[in-house]
Amino acid sequence: MNTAVKNVAIIGAGLGGLACAIALRKQGLNVRVYEQAKDFRPVGAGIGLAPNGFNSLEAIEPNLVTSIKSSGCCVSKSTLKNTLGETISSDPINSIFLDKYGHSLVTIWWWNLQQILASLLPPEIIYLDRRFIDFQQNEDGVEIYFANGKTARADLLIGADGIKSAVRKKLTAEEQLRYLGSFCWRAVVQCDRSFIEPNELVLIQGNQQFMYLLNLGDENISWITRELSPEYQLSANAAETKSRVLDEIADWAEPIKAIVQATDAERILEGPICDRLPLSSWSKGRVTLLGDAAHPMSPAMGQGANMTFEDAYALANCLSKSSSIEKAFTNYEKNRLERTKIIQTYSAKREMRYYETDEQKAGRETPPESPTIDEIRQWLYSYKPL
Ligand SMILES: Cc1cc2nc3c(=O)[nH]c(=O)nc-3n(C[C@H](O)[C@H](O)[C@H](O)COP(=O)(O)OP(=O)(O)OC[C@H]3O[C@@H](n4cnc5c(N)ncnc54)[C@H](O)[C@@H]3O)c2cc1C
Repeated sequence: MNTAVKNVAIIGAGLGGLACAIALRKQGLNVRVYEQAKDFRPVGAGIGLAPNGFNSLEAIEPNLVTSIKSSGCCVSKSTLKNTLGETISSDPINSIFLDKYGHSLVTIWWWNLQQILASLLPPEIIYLDRRFIDFQQNEDGVEIYFANGKTARADLLIGADGIKSAVRKKLTAEEQLRYLGSFCWRAVVQCDRSFIEPNELVLIQGNQQFMYLLNLGDENISWITRELSPEYQLSANAAETKSRVLDEIADWAEPIKAIVQATDAERILEGPICDRLPLSSWSKGRVTLLGDAAHPMSPAMGQGANMTFEDAYALANCLSKSSSIEKAFTNYEKNRLERTKIIQTYSAKREMRYYETDEQKAGRETPPESPTIDEIRQWLYSYKPL
């Protein structure tokens, strides 16, 4: 048990911050979570949870897995279609996930997941309207400063404040995200679902553009579309965002366009796909990072949230088993740096695979790539938290 730590401050009530708060409270620590949003709103899009993420969630709190599976959609079939809506291939996917690694691929709304995690914490430990701006640390603790003039004090500070992490910026003085050349729009909508079966995940492959359709449970579906775009410009407003997406898919089949048409423009998220280069350390003194703050990655492998849950459990476990903060952070980084570096690097590479022409694919496949996607999956999904 780490006697040097009693009070932990977490910046960010996203997926990683909340999961880590649950794990740390189970170790008997006094945790406070500080979130910049003024309230919890139904935001975000659909994400996919894989067996490795579930293994860590299960280690944090076994009931979490049951709640998530009953709230989201356990995917049993993956279908590839063309933009005319014709099926090119359709495969059962339990052999890739459930049968081999013990958990289905589950697609769920980011907001539902946030609510499930938050429901396991006493509301009074989550402080909204607290935008972190700075910290100062010494041998006695960390002083934390928020944009509204309030301050907080803790023995330990965890930056779980996402891809644009202000805590990371204070630690590393890094500026720019790296744009990966892929631009994205995504949303959650309730609409006619005849185009997608209940436990299906659909990928529609266009010309240097593609769209995922995910079932999220509760009659919600999420569409996520990305296109190759060496440069990008953000839309001026929500109406322009929606008409841009509809322009991009103007020659696609009507049932696909109808899904976008049925979406409230205000609910469409638009943005570049970015990451950062892996760091060689995430911690300084009493401050460390987790999730996207530590290792933002392209969503090509669907691993951002899954890696975040792995971090959350690993950090709580290292803190409980080490006699000092320094030893805990050393063990945490030993456990997480190499694995997240591999998946960050691989995800960036795979982002461009979506846009390859048939010729490029054929050229790449001889000789076979090493490691193969099956080898990567084996390494990725069989991860068991220590
Ligand atoms: C298109 C797309 C698809 C994706 N699909 C998947 C997928 O299928 N599977 C998967 O595993 N992952 C997916 N991801 C990634 C996943 O959503 C993230 O990796 C995951 O949410 C990271 O969790 P986090 O807690 O680190 O950050 P977040 O969930 O982003 O949470 C950060 C929190 O910090 C708060 N915050 C930010 N700045 C401050 C501040 N200064 N002060 C206080 N609070 C602050 C934010 O408001 C937010 O609540 C996808 C991402 C994208 C872009």
